Amino acid sequence: MAADTSRTSRVVVVGAGPVGLFLAGELRLGGADVVVLERLRAPTAESRASTLHARTVELFDCRGLLDALGDPPREPRGHFGGVPMDLTVPGPYSGQWKVPQTRTGEILQDWAGALGADVRRGWEVRGLTQHDGPEDGYVEVTADTPDGTRRLRAAYVVACDGEDSTVRRLTGAALAGTPAVRELLRADIAGIDVPNRRFERKEHRLAIAARMPGGVTRVMVHAFGRPARRRTGPPDFAEVVDAWRRVTGEDLSGGRPVWLNAFGDANQQLERYRHGRVLFAGDAAHRQMPSGGQALNLGLQDAANLGWKLAAVACGRIPAGLLDTYHDERHEVGRRVLANIRAQTLLLLGGPEVEPARTLLGELITAGPARDHLAAMITGLDIRYRVGGGAHPLLGAAHPLLGARLPLGTLPAPDGPLRVAEALRDGRGLLLVSASARAELRWLGKVWSDRLTSVAVRPDTAGPLHGAEGLLVRPDGHVAWAGADPRAAAAAIRHWFGRPDPGL
Ligand SMILES: Cc1cc2nc3c(=O)[nH]c(=O)nc-3n(C[C@H](O)[C@H](O)[C@H](O)COP(=O)(O)OP(=O)(O)OC[C@H]3O[C@@H](n4cnc5c(N)ncnc54)[C@H](O)[C@@H]3O)c2cc1C
Repeated sequence: MAADTSRTSRVVVVGAGPVGLFLAGELRLGGADVVVLERLRAPTAESRASTLHARTVELFDCRGLLDALGDPPREPRGHFGGVPMDLTVPGPYSGQWKVPQTRTGEILQDWAGALGADVRRGWEVRGLTQHDGPEDGYVEVTADTPDGTRRLRAAYVVACDGEDSTVRRLTGAALAGTPAVRELLRADIAGIDVPNRRFERKEHRLAIAARMPGGVTRVMVHAFGRPARRRTGPPDFAEVVDAWRRVTGEDLSGGRPVWLNAFGDANQQLERYRHGRVLFAGDAAHRQMPSGGQALNLGLQDAANLGWKLAAVACGRIPAGLLDTYHDERHEVGRRVLANIRAQTLLLLGGPEVEPARTLLGELITAGPARDHLAAMITGLDIRYRVGGGAHPLLGAAHPLLGARLPLGTLPAPDGPLRVAEALRDGRGLLLVSASARAELRWLGKVWSDRLTSVAVRPDTAGPLHGAEGLLVRPDGHVAWAGADPRAAAAAIRHWFGRPDPGL
């Protein structure tokens, strides 16, 4: 067996799905040495998720990926458990961006590759052992490759290997929650002509049909109360044809199946996203019904949270304790998303007994605060991490942006408006300082100039500072500190970015 033990500061990402590729790019932006191991020799052609929500599109803008995304269709109409709702949210990226997952994967693969990530296809991870040691610990990964078995050493491994994660099994990481008890059958079929159905619920069943570009129709079907089957592969076309006939009376047998799939309502999450030097992101960390495209978006946002932190730890800029904030922040977000998906599953796959709840919800979410609340949650715009500290200098309370994402407007910089997304593009943090702030506060930008971009902004109570003299923004766009006290600012910068380089 050939062993490559030469580098121990590298990060191995297992899985080149969208989450692994986005993470690889983020790690490269942070300066880490990245190898992505993917068992498939070519990217999957399965259509899978087709929705990017507003917060994910914002993150793509922050990394300069909007041009590659092009101008995909945007759909303001969404649903909660099949109850129609308007997903319009404030900001430039409202609505559901309809991008096939295959395209998202291509964009991220090109981006991560251009940044220098080493993506190795045909490498299937089979074994993993952690070796202790706070300074010199490492993880050894064994993979089957086209050239035989190979071993690689890494400082850290991130499992982005999907819902049936091998790394989860190898580390014994425990999933909590409920396994699938119900399932939907799904097929993309060419050559059929059935009416479009958007969550058509009848007494005993649910049927969905949507004609897609290219003349293929996606159908999904579920008979209420029918338990999930133990499967080792996708359903046969005959099973889908039979189920569809029973619930709609229509015959699909003359069509040509392009893709067959069954998915269940499992709702499970790892108890810990970090197991020593092994971390989990995306579907490897949480299993959920793909409802409203939230699974993919949740995973991509895991990657945005983890990438800069792990790069800083792997490159030795900050102690490994920072990685625990990844678990704390993303586990809480995941728990909330899984709870809303569970609520949606009950509403969607429940029998006639859920009709009164659906009717009531439909009334509540036509407009007003209940709609706004759900739209902000589904699009990921309401995420607020517990970053600590930061009393507002004027209000004496927490700054309104503390822990939340900095909205992607423009900053009133002295040389003219500066787009927030552009200021974050290189994956560094951002220190916004009022032009009238104390010199000590402005000086911090110079002390940490290798990790922070400093922007002087015009003192403007209506601007992003909201009356504070300084704002510290992490590379994932979340505000980590706001205030006026230079000592508090320095403590926050040390916490999130490490000690300053004595050479600066
Ligand atoms: C069949 C299917 C259908 C879906 N349909 C929808 C949908 O209609 N709508 C929706 O919103 N969401 C859907 N989802 C969910 C969505 O696709 C996922 O949330 C998203 O793909 C998660 O991305 P990921 O990178 O975490 O995992 P994945 O995209 O699953 O990527 C994991 C990668 O890891 C690789 N891998 C696995 N094991 C190993 C190993 N041992 N060694 C090396 N590589 C390995 C896999 O080949 C894969 O490329 C679907 C998911 C699946 C699996």
